[in-house]
Amino acid sequence: MLRMRRGRGKRSAEVTEVPPVSRRRTEEEEAIQNARRRAAPSVREFKYNKKRVRLVSQGSDLKDDARCILYWMCRDQRVQDNWAFLYAQRLALKQELPLHVCFCLVPKFLEATIRHYRFMLKGLQEVAEECAELNISFHLLLGYAKDVLPTFVAEHGVGGLVTDFSPLRLPRQWVEDVRARLPEDVPFAQVDAHNIVPCWVASPKQEYSARTIRGKIHAQLPEFLTEFPPVVRHPHPPSCPAQPIAWEACYSSLQVDHTVKEVEWATPGTAAGMAVLKSFIAERLKSFSTHRNDPNKAALSNLSPWLHFGQVSTQRAILEVQKHRRNYKDSVDAFVEEAVVRRELAENFCYYNENYDSVQGAYDWAQTTLKLHAKDKRPYLYSLQELEQGTTHDPLWNAAQLQMVQEGKMHGFLRMYWAKKILEWTRSPEEALQFAIYLNDRYELDGRDPNGYVGCLWSICGIHDQGWAERPIFGKIRYMNYAGCKRKFDVDQFERRYTPTHSQ
Ligand SMILES: Cc1cc2nc3c(=O)[nH]c(=O)nc-3n(C[C@H](O)[C@H](O)[C@H](O)COP(=O)(O)OP(=O)(O)OC[C@H]3O[C@@H](n4cnc5c(N)ncnc54)[C@H](O)[C@@H]3O)c2cc1C
Repeated sequence: MLRMRRGRGKRSAEVTEVPPVSRRRTEEEEAIQNARRRAAPSVREFKYNKKRVRLVSQGSDLKDDARCILYWMCRDQRVQDNWAFLYAQRLALKQELPLHVCFCLVPKFLEATIRHYRFMLKGLQEVAEECAELNISFHLLLGYAKDVLPTFVAEHGVGGLVTDFSPLRLPRQWVEDVRARLPEDVPFAQVDAHNIVPCWVASPKQEYSARTIRGKIHAQLPEFLTEFPPVVRHPHPPSCPAQPIAWEACYSSLQVDHTVKEVEWATPGTAAGMAVLKSFIAERLKSFSTHRNDPNKAALSNLSPWLHFGQVSTQRAILEVQKHRRNYKDSVDAFVEEAVVRRELAENFCYYNENYDSVQGAYDWAQTTLKLHAKDKRPYLYSLQELEQGTTHDPLWNAAQLQMVQEGKMHGFLRMYWAKKILEWTRSPEEALQFAIYLNDRYELDGRDPNGYVGCLWSICGIHDQGWAERPIFGKIRYMNYAGCKRKFDVDQFERRYTPTHSQ
C-alpha cells in the first residue's frame, strides 16, 4: 500500500522474541500468544491483507532520511490483535526503522466525563508499558492532533504515518486536519482495526438493514476472520526515548465533568477486558442464546466498554468464542450476529450517513410517520433533568436509567425500551433523540459509539427496521410497553436492584 522502497532487502531485520512481561501471563493469554506465533513469527513474514489499508494521502516513496515510522493510535487502544499497529510495525521492520506510537489526548470529547477518561487513560497506561517492553516508544501528546502531530512528525523525522479508523464525524475530521498539515513527502495510511471486515470493504453503500448486510459480511468472514501475528519486540530501538508520562498530571489538561464517577465493576485495560472475555466463555456463553433478553440473568458478554475503547479486539473475541461452537452452537451464532453483523451494520450506517445522529438520518417513511404524529398528545412530558434523575412515573424505566448512571452500562434489552419511552414522553422526536444521545453518551461507558447512535435511531426513528402497526406518537415506529417487558422477565426483581443515591 505505502510505496516505501528505501532500504528494502538491505539487511534482514532481526526480530527478537517478546521477553517475559512483567505481569505474568495467564494460561489463556499464553495460548493466544502461541496461536499468534503459529500464524507467523512476526508481521513481516505474515501475508497481510492490504484491503484493510487505504491511503489518506498519496505521499511519495519513503524519504531517504526517514528516522522512524509512527502509529497514531486513536480508536484501537491496544497493542496485540491490532491490524493498524501491525501494519505500522510491518513498515518499520521492512525499512529497518524504529517504531513510535502516539496518542493525542484531547481535553474534551462529546459528552465524555471523567468516568470515560479514567477508563481510557488507565488502558493507555497499560499500552505504554507493553510498548516499553517491546522496544517501541509510546508518546502521550496533549492536544488536538492537528496542533501537535505535524510538529512531532518533523522533530522525529517520521517517514510514514499510520492511523486506525472510526466512521464518526469528529475522528474523521481529525484525520482530515492532519492530512492537510502533514508534509507532502510523508505517506499517510489508515487501517480499519476495529471491524473484522473493513467498513469500506463490507459494503460500498449504506445498507438498509441487518438482512441486507448479513450475507455480505458472512461471505467475507473466511477472508478476514484470521489469526493475528504478534506485535514483536522491535529490533530497531528508538533514537530518542519517549518522555516519561506524568499520568496523573494529564488529568489537569481535561475540561470534563468530574461528577460522573468511575464504576467499580469494570477494570480498565486489555488484561482486564480479556479476563471478562474469559469469564463470558466460561460462565455466560452457554445462556447467551436463551437468556440475553433477561436483565436479571447474567448472560451477556459485558464486553462493550473494552470493545468501544479498542482495549479488546472484536476479532479476538470472535476467534475465542467460536472455539466453543460445538457445545454452544446457538449462543455462538447469536454472539456473532450481535458482535459482527449488528455492530458492523452500525459502522456502515455512520460511515455512509452523515446524519447518523439526527432525525434527518432516518428513512423517508419514518420521517413522514413521525411528522404526521408530531402533534399527538403525550401522556407524560418530562424534562431532561427528570429523565436524568430517573424520577418518571415508570419504575422500570427509572431502574434502567439508574443502572446506567450508577454502573455505566444499561442492560441491552432495556436500552430499546428506555429510548422508546423517551420518544413517548418528550415534545418531539428531535428532542427525544437529543436527550437519548446526551444521556447515553454521558453515562454509558460504551457511549459515543456508532452502536449508540444507531441504537437510538433504531429505537426512536425506525432505522434498520420495518414499519409496524400505526399508533399514536410512534406512527409506524415499533412500540414497546411495560406490560410487554413484564411478559419477558421479572420486572419487579429488576426494579428492586436500582434505587436513587443521595447525589442524584
Ligand atoms: C438505545 C440504544 C443505545 C445503545 N447504545 C450503545 C452504545 O452506546 N454503545 C454500544 O456499544 N452499544 C450500544 N447499544 C447496543 C447494545 O445494546 C450494546 O452493544 C450491548 O448492550 C452492550 O452490552 P454487551 O457487550 O454485554 O453486549 P452483548 O450482547 O454481549 O454483545 C456483544 C457485542 O455485540 C455488539 N452489539 C450487541 N448488541 C448490538 C446492537 N443492538 N447493535 C450493535 N452492536 C451490538 C456490541 O459491540 C456488544 O459489546 C445500544 C442499543 C440501543 C437500543
